[in-house]
Order: sequence, then structure tokens, then C-alpha cells
Amino acid sequence: MTHLLHRSIHATLPVAVSGAGIEITDQTGKRYIDASGGAAVSCLGHGHPDVLAALHEQLDRMAYAHTGFFTTEVAERLADMLVEAAPEGLDHVYLVSGGSEAVEAALKMARQYFVETGQPQRRHVIARRQSYHGNTLGALAAGGNEWRRTQFSPLLIETHHIAPCYAYREQKDGESLEDYGLRAAQELEDKILELGAEEVMAFVAEPVVGATAGAIPPAPGYFRRIREICDKYGVLLILDEVMCGMGRTGSLYACEQDDIVPDLLSIAKGLGGGYQPIGATLLSRRIFEAFANGTGFFQHGHTYMGHPMAAAAGVAVQTVIRRDHLLDNVRAMGNFLSAQLHEQLGQNPHVGDIRGRGLFMGVELVRDRETKEPFDPALKLHARIKREAMERGLMVYPMGGTINGRSGDHILLAPPFIVTEKDVETIVNRLGQAIGAALSTIS
Ligand code: PLP
Repeated sequence: MTHLLHRSIHATLPVAVSGAGIEITDQTGKRYIDASGGAAVSCLGHGHPDVLAALHEQLDRMAYAHTGFFTTEVAERLADMLVEAAPEGLDHVYLVSGGSEAVEAALKMARQYFVETGQPQRRHVIARRQSYHGNTLGALAAGGNEWRRTQFSPLLIETHHIAPCYAYREQKDGESLEDYGLRAAQELEDKILELGAEEVMAFVAEPVVGATAGAIPPAPGYFRRIREICDKYGVLLILDEVMCGMGRTGSLYACEQDDIVPDLLSIAKGLGGGYQPIGATLLSRRIFEAFANGTGFFQHGHTYMGHPMAAAAGVAVQTVIRRDHLLDNVRAMGNFLSAQLHEQLGQNPHVGDIRGRGLFMGVELVRDRETKEPFDPALKLHARIKREAMERGLMVYPMGGTINGRSGDHILLAPPFIVTEKDVETIVNRLGQAIGAALSTIS
């Protein structure tokens, strides 16, 4: 009998014993291609020698120093690297231990900003129904995933949700993508006015939606309009790039491709590539100055924030990405992955949509391609595909759930930035087989 809760509940999980490159090996010796980077984490794959060397070096020097007593060179260095590459204006970094913490910190910074600047009535958070921002109570409240929220709803702060920007399902016949994007963004303005513009604190969104719906990029112009609306009403824009940031979509920060700068930006996952747990919140000068000219500090904190080992992982991972020009590979292999998915899966009558950016691609499965009718959620097609993929030595990230009253099955691919064309062909080939096998169990 196991005492590990995770294993007690998921009794059939294989035991991972080692990882090298894009593969993980289990205790039976079976190898799995990590085509989802775990949960879009392992951007350099496993066992990268330069990251391991940097971690050994940091460990030899010092594992931990509490931020209440010290700053460290390695944490300073990581903050410098993140700001140097960040969109203009985001020039301070708050280091935490993961994505939920990075979102919580952003929400609390937004609130403290308005308290410091004499607008304490601003308290409403607006987010989107099709989103996941983490599992701690503040982040969970912001997220729109009903399945994750329902049983905890009495504990969640009130959050207001608007429609996602989800062209595959929401764009009308004859409507251009740009017009659809403006229509979707208009929901934000309507909601701000409904709540009272003076009382809205922040809008939170993922630039490319990840864990709830398989890599959905926004319509062109959507986020520019969102930025304008936030500016018009003095609402802070928080972008959650925990999953889609740090190069995953082909630019270090996903929002660069939408040509906007948020007030607060949360990152994690690819920041440390899974070599250590780490997240960060970047904040704009105006928020920093409100704190600096007000109480002089951000009233928050965690024991492990700015952890030197985590910061060392972040510095090492980000150094390798830059040195090896891996974002070029993300863009090239992203295009190749998209082309392969279309070529190998595009004719499948149950593949409704193939979408994404860079090495962040999603496949949406439907019962009927014409009507876009999803499969019965009770069938859990996404989970069947994951199981069949694991059988074939392939890790993919499955999702199902109800969004706007509709249910869908999605598969997310987020392979390491080091993949080759051959790897991509193998990934798509195994995915095609897994989808075929899963479908044959239900029809
Ligand atoms: N935000 C987004 C967009 C995520 O995808 C996730 C995790 O999947 C989180 C926040 C939460 O991050 P963590 O699981 O590291 O707390």
C-alpha cells in the first residue's frame, strides 16, 4: 500500500525513474516521448547538462537564504534577465514558487495598488469563462473552469466572467476574425459598465488559453482592444502567461505577438523548465512607484520566494534558450508541427479544430465536424486518448469540460523546444494512432 495520496488515487500511474532529452523512462524501462512537457513545463526536456551543472554549483554554494534577511546574486540576475527581454515598462520582478502563487501575487498587487493610490473601492475582478489561473483560492476564483470551482465556490471571492475569445465556436458565419475579436472584447466594456467602472480592479486573461481548452490563440486585435478598454476605465490588465509564456508560443512573452503591454504579468512553468519550482510576477513601473511612494513594500510573501536553487534553474534555463537560439526552433518546429497535424489528422472526421502558436498546439475533437457537436462528456474521450497515447509511449495533455454550457474534448501538445522534425513526425504519428484507438472504443 502506498502512503502517497497522488498514487493512492491514481493507482495505475507508471513510476517515472529517469528522464533524458525529450523522453521519460518508467520503472519497467518503457520510454515516453514528453510531447506535452508535462503540463507545458519541460521546455528544455530532461537532464539538460548545463542546467544540472548550474544547479550543482548553486547547491555547493548555498541552497537557501530567506528574503527577509538577504537578496542573492542569482535572484537579482534572473530578475535582470526577465526585465531585459520584457515588453517596455514591465521593470520589476517578484519571484515565487509556481503559477498559482504568481497569479495570487498579481491579484494582490492590483488590489494594493488601488489602496495605495486612493481608490479602495476598486475590488471587482473580471476574467473569462474559458480560463484556468491556478488552484489557490484567489487564482481559482479568477478561473472560469466550473469543474475545478464548483465544490469550493462558497470559499471563492466573487469574480465576474465574460465570454472567451474562441473563434472556432463563437465566430459567426460571414463575420471576419477581426470583427469577431472586437465583438468578444466588447463584453469586457459591457461588464465594466454593468459593475460600475469606478469599482473594477482588474481584468485577468491568458493570451493563449492553455489548460482549459487546448491552445486557443486570440483573434487578431482582440487584446489591443482589451488594452484600450482597460485604459479607458483605469482597470489593470493582468496577463497570465504561466503556461503560454517563456518562449512556448515563439516569443519569450506571448503578449509580444499581440502588441500589448499588461500592467502585471505572471509566468512560471517554462521559466525553470521543471528543474525547480519557480514562478514570477512582473509589474509595471507605475505599480512599483505606487508601492514605493506609499507604504514602501508589497504586503505579501512566502517562505521560499526568491529561492536560490529555483532562481539558479531559471537563470540556467533562460541562458540556454538564448544561447542556443531555441525560440527560432520553437517557431520553425511549431510551423512543422502545425503542418504535420493538418496533414496526418486533418482528414479525421472527428478532428474539429487544429490551432495554436509555436510549440503550443491544440486539437479539438467533435462527434460531428459539420455541426461541431461535441462527444458526450461521460465518454471522457480526452482521457481515453491520453491512455492510448501512454500505451504508445507518448505523453499528451488531455482536457474536457463544460464551457459556455458546451462540452469539448481537447488534446494539448507542448513538446520541449529542442524537438527535431523527426521527433515531431513521431509525436503526430503516435497521436493519430491514439486518437484512432480511443475513437474505436466508443463508436
Ligand atoms: N495559470 C495558468 C494559465 C496555468 O496553466 C496554470 C497551471 O496549469 C496555473 C496558472 C497554475 O500554476 P501552478 O500549477 O504552477 O500553480
